[in-house]
Amino acid sequence: MITSVRLAHLLLKECIHNGDIMIDATAGNGHDTLFLSDCVGDAGTVIAIDIQAEAINATRQVMEIHQRSNALYILGDHAAMNDTLKEYEGNIAGITFNLGYLPGAIDHTIITKSSSTISGLNACLTLLHEQGCISVIAYRGHDHGLEEAHAVEQWMHALPSQEWHVVSISAINQSSTSPVVYFARKKSLRPQ
Ligand code: SAM
Repeated sequence: MITSVRLAHLLLKECIHNGDIMIDATAGNGHDTLFLSDCVGDAGTVIAIDIQAEAINATRQVMEIHQRSNALYILGDHAAMNDTLKEYEGNIAGITFNLGYLPGAIDHTIITKSSSTISGLNACLTLLHEQGCISVIAYRGHDHGLEEAHAVEQWMHALPSQEWHVVSISAINQSSTSPVVYFARKKSLRPQ
């Protein structure tokens, strides 16, 4: 079966080019950062953000094992991306969020939360360039996961249709708590 991570990667691949700057807003164990690093190539950059030092260390390690040197690492809250990444305003090709807690961590209380996720999504609006994209994987099966997915869905729903393409993808014959992928891409300003 195709996983939600694979689905998000397929959609992202459509809008990433060699030399792009991408943000992994939830670096975790570094799998998404590594994927983005391959997509942008040596001429591009991935900015990997996580609120936990354990995750930033794990991501750095995965990148080192794969001999990738095109990432910047930020230990911090993606809710503050507008401030920490001010110099990149309007220059980012895409931003990914893989919500929830750090897989393999002992402490599952450090988890994405609706309020900071929505602040992070709001920051995307100024960071992204024309035709930039946002992907969010939301896990609805854990405490507050459903509430967080609803908040993301409402946020995505409110994006103006003249300016954005927005889709959500989830399995329709599985439990209603299975993961959902949200994907939004800014429309081109040039007449097609
Ligand atoms: N993308 C990761 C990978 O490929 O392994 C998986 C991400 S994991 C499901 C979610 C991550 O979000 C955790 O590492 C957690 O520490 C991080 N996180 C939670 N709240 C955050 C926040 N406000 N800002 C940045 N990272 C956050």
